[in-house]
Amino acid sequence: MENCLFCKIVNKEIPTSFVAENGELVAFDDIRPKAPAHVLILPKAHVLSVKEADEKLSGKLITLAKKIAEEKGLEGYKLIFNVGPKGGQVVEHLHLHLVGGWNEAPKKVEI
Ligand code: AMP
Ligand code: ZN
Repeated sequence: MENCLFCKIVNKEIPTSFVAENGELVAFDDIRPKAPAHVLILPKAHVLSVKEADEKLSGKLITLAKKIAEEKGLEGYKLIFNVGPKGGQVVEHLHLHLVGGWNEAPKKVEI
């Protein structure tokens, strides 16, 4: 979709640190990490938010997030969907935040 930041990243129009890619999904490092590890996992297709995602797509995002967490050796982490502007979603292209890498339980994380 035109004028969508994450569509531009998916189309390699913006330099990005990619972590994973398959036919349907991509994952890349968040540009302003809120934790030692902060990866965004999203569909290549422009889907607005998790509200518009079916069970299959939601499951695939979570499965890839778990795989990346395992590959990065994260013992504990958070998986967060911000949903809509009133849920703190700034970029209106569905994405799952994977945050972790702390040495102890984090006191508070604002995503
Ligand atoms: P959200 O508030 O859930 O919409 O999250 C959007 C996330 O995208 C934020 O954590 C931003 O730091 C991140 N972000 C914005 N621009 C970029 C970019 N060019 N590359 C990687 N992450 C980005
Ligand atoms: Zn998009």
